[in-house]
Amino acid sequence: MTETNTDTLVTIVGGGVHGVHLAVRLLQADLIDVCELQILDPTGLLESFRRKCRQCGMVEFRSPFVHHVGTDPFSLRDFARERGREDELRSTTVGAERPTASLFFDHAEWLCDQYGIESTLLDARATDIKNNQGNVEIETTQGCISSQWCLLAVGHGRSFTYPEWARELVSTEPVTHVWEPTFDPNTIDETSTVGIVGGGITAAQLATMLTQPGRDIVLFARSPFRVETLEASTDWMHFSGITEKLHSRPPASRAREELVAEARYDGTMPPYVFRRLQRALKQEQIELESLSKNPVDRFYHIRGRLHSCSPSTKPKDRE
Ligand SMILES: Cc1cc2nc3c(=O)[nH]c(=O)nc-3n(C[C@H](O)[C@H](O)[C@H](O)COP(=O)(O)OP(=O)(O)OC[C@H]3O[C@@H](n4cnc5c(N)ncnc54)[C@H](O)[C@@H]3O)c2cc1C
Repeated sequence: MTETNTDTLVTIVGGGVHGVHLAVRLLQADLIDVCELQILDPTGLLESFRRKCRQCGMVEFRSPFVHHVGTDPFSLRDFARERGREDELRSTTVGAERPTASLFFDHAEWLCDQYGIESTLLDARATDIKNNQGNVEIETTQGCISSQWCLLAVGHGRSFTYPEWARELVSTEPVTHVWEPTFDPNTIDETSTVGIVGGGITAAQLATMLTQPGRDIVLFARSPFRVETLEASTDWMHFSGITEKLHSRPPASRAREELVAEARYDGTMPPYVFRRLQRALKQEQIELESLSKNPVDRFYHIRGRLHSCSPSTKPKDRE
């Protein structure tokens, strides 16, 4: 890359999986020096993914070990082997083994240390970007930064989908989206009745994580559970096979987004999560309800019913 009189040569907005991967790629290919790079993220490197794992109790990943923030596909596997942590690579029926969350993040941290990526982090949120004579002016919560390149890796940003009925309740009732930064499953009372709306991997993991004696969990699912080992077909696991197809659509275009959306097995859960859910349903640790348009009345009805059971009532006697 060429010399510039901007504050930085490259600014990456977002220090999640994609932001960190971009940084590793640029640094490893010697395209930039670490002092020419800045990553903006108010939550810290990889912190938003870490938080999501905590929020839904995800201790092992669905994706194979070749998916990580580095560039060498086998780097995570080798990292595990060199440290005697092969037991943190979980077997699977399709593709390579799956890492535990802690192995994934330790490996990512190790890579960040190698390239000094933490030193590029600015604790700031980008609020606006403008084109300024070929450079980019980035407004942030810590002031303005000029950069020759600005790469957006903001994930889904801060927008969560709340159904209409839930939006009305948020201000008055303990209703929240699982990815709200303020949501902490550890603060849920041990004897609460918890309604979880959703039927995919997140809802199933959250429901099974929250089960404990004395707590009633009701899972509201709209449609039958769908089980898929991976998040997309195996073609998408070998990126070289789909690069051409993906790059035939313009970068950041709706067409490219649609291609990815079509390929994803949204709303599915992998077999190991499904088995856990089935066990919990069988043992009546979780109650399953089909999701109506507005599950609130149904939830209050169930909560009333559960609370009216005497403490000694066995779950199977409730019906
Ligand atoms: C239940 C579940 C299971 C999953 N399992 C897997 C798996 O097994 N394997 C896998 O690879 N993936 C998995 N994923 C997907 C994975 O979480 C996402 O693909 C990944 O986190 C996306 O990374 P990202 O960098 O695009 O976005 P994010 O991780 O969301 O990072 C975006 C970052 O941008 C920052 N940001 C946003 N706006 C701004 C701004 N204006 N200024 C500055 N910073 C900003 C945010 O703070 C955040 O840190 C799973 C997801 C879920 C929910």
